Amino acid sequence: AFEYAPAPESRDLANLKPSYRPFIDGEFRDGGGEPLKTLNPATEEVLAEVSTASDADLDAAVKAARKAFEKIWGPMPGSERAKYLFRIARLIQERSRELAVLETLDNGKPIRESRDSDLPLVAAHFFYHAGWADKLDYAGYGPDPKPLGVAGQIIPWNFPLLMLAWKIAPALATGNTVVLKPAETTPLTALVFGEICQQAGLPPGVVNILPGAGDLGPKLVEHPGVDKIAFTGSTEVGKLIQRQVAGTPKRLTLELGGKAANVVFDDAPLDQAVEGIVNGIFFNQGHVCCAGSRLLVQESVADEVLDKLRYRISTLRLGDPLDKNTDVGAINSREQLGRIRELADSGEAEGAQRWTSPCPVPDRGFFFAPTIFSGVHQSMRIAREEIFGPVLSVLTFRTPDEAVAKANNTPYGLSAGIWSEKGSRILWTANRLRAGVVWANTFNRFDPAAPFGGYQESGFGREGGRTGLEGYLDV
Ligand code: NAD
Repeated sequence: AFEYAPAPESRDLANLKPSYRPFIDGEFRDGGGEPLKTLNPATEEVLAEVSTASDADLDAAVKAARKAFEKIWGPMPGSERAKYLFRIARLIQERSRELAVLETLDNGKPIRESRDSDLPLVAAHFFYHAGWADKLDYAGYGPDPKPLGVAGQIIPWNFPLLMLAWKIAPALATGNTVVLKPAETTPLTALVFGEICQQAGLPPGVVNILPGAGDLGPKLVEHPGVDKIAFTGSTEVGKLIQRQVAGTPKRLTLELGGKAANVVFDDAPLDQAVEGIVNGIFFNQGHVCCAGSRLLVQESVADEVLDKLRYRISTLRLGDPLDKNTDVGAINSREQLGRIRELADSGEAEGAQRWTSPCPVPDRGFFFAPTIFSGVHQSMRIAREEIFGPVLSVLTFRTPDEAVAKANNTPYGLSAGIWSEKGSRILWTANRLRAGVVWANTFNRFDPAAPFGGYQESGFGREGGRTGLEGYLDV
C-alpha cells in the first residue's frame, strides 16, 4: 500500500517559514557546508545567506531519493503521480507573483520577463508533464516503460526556476526521484520550490534540493547512488561531467552552450525581423543558451537592417529589474560581467566596429549596455565564442548557400532563426542548419511539447515533448 500524503489544504502556508536551507527527505535542514551569500545583482547587496549541503547531506539526499523511488514513487500508478504534478503546477500559479519577484531579485532579469515568460512556462511545464504521467503506456515506447531511479540534476543561473521545471517535471512524471543542485548565484526560487513540494504533500524524498558551490556538482555526478545525470550549463563543465561518468552505467543528458545564427534574407519583413533580432539577443540580457548572438544578414539589406536595429535598440530601457518598464536588467554576477567585457574588448581589438546603446547605465549593480559589432569576420572570437550577454555580432552573406555555410560554421548547434517571406526558402534553409531548434519568423519561443536540445558541442538528449521523456525511461 502507498503512504498517501496529506492533501494540500491540510498544509498551512503561514506555518511554512521561508528557509534557505537544503531540502532533504521532505524537510528543510541546516546544511553542513560553507554558507554562501547570494547577491542582488542590480544593487550588489546581499539578498540572503544560504546554508549549503555537505557530503553527508548529499548522502542523506541520495538515500532519501532512493528510498522514495523504491517504496513510493516508482511503484505508484502514473495516475496518482499526475495528481501531485497537477497540484505543483497550480501552486506555482498561485505563488507566481512571489516567485517572479524572487527570481528577479536573485537573477537580475526584468520582472516583466520573470512574470510573463519564466513563471507561465514553469507552470506549463508541470501541467504538460502531469498529463503524460498516466499515458506512458500509450507513448509508443512499448508496454510498461520503466523509470531509471534517482536522477542527479544540475542547473545554471540564467533561468533558475524554469531550468528546474525542465528537469524535475519529466523526471517525476516518469517515476524517477530527484536530487537537484541549483546554481550558486541563484538558489532561492529552487528552495521555495521545496516549500511547494511540501504544500503539495509530495512524499518525502521524491524531490531533494541541495544548494552548494561548484564543488558539490562533481560530487553529485560521482555519487554511486545516482542512476542518471541531467546537466544544463557550460560546454566546458559538460565535457568534465562526460569524462566523470565514462566507465559507469549512468545515463547522461547534456544541455550546453550555443552561438545561434539568426539569418535574415532580403525578402524578410524587416521591421518584424528587427523585433526578432532584439528579442533574440537582449531577452534575459542575452543570458540565453539559444540566444541569437550571430546576426547573418543578406548584404543587400544589411545597412537598412543595421539602421533600424540601432534605432530600436536606442529605445530599450536598461536598469532596475523590478521596474515594470525595464527591458534589459542586470548581468547575473560580477564574474559574468567580466567575461562579457573581456569578449567585447576582444571584438574591438580584432577590428570589428563597436556600437553601444546610448541608454544611461546605473552606477551601482552589474550592468552592460546593449552592444552591436558590425564588420565581424568568422574567425573573430566574438563570432565563435559564447558571450552569454547583450552583445550581437553582425555578419553578412550574399547567397542562401553562403548563409547556411556561415550559420553552420560553429562548434555549437543549439538553435537558429530564419527570416523570410518565402516558405520554400525557410524549409530549404531549415533542413540544412545543424541546430536542435530552428525558428522561422520568430525567435525564443518555447513550448513544453517541443523537444529542445543541441547538436555537436551544444550537447545531446532532448528536453520537452515525448522525446524528452525518453531521457528518464528504460524502454
Ligand atoms: P556552469 O557550467 O558554470 O554551471 C552550471 C552548473 O554546474 C552550476 O550549478 C554549477 O555549480 C555546476 N558545476 C560547476 N562545475 C561543475 C562540475 N565540475 N561538475 C558538476 N557541476 C558543476 O554554467 P553557468 O555559467 O551556470 O551557465 C551558463 C551556461 O549554461 C552557458 O554556457 C549556457 O549556454 C548554458 N545553458 C544551456 C542551456 C541549454 O538548454 N542548452 C540552458 C541554459 C544555459
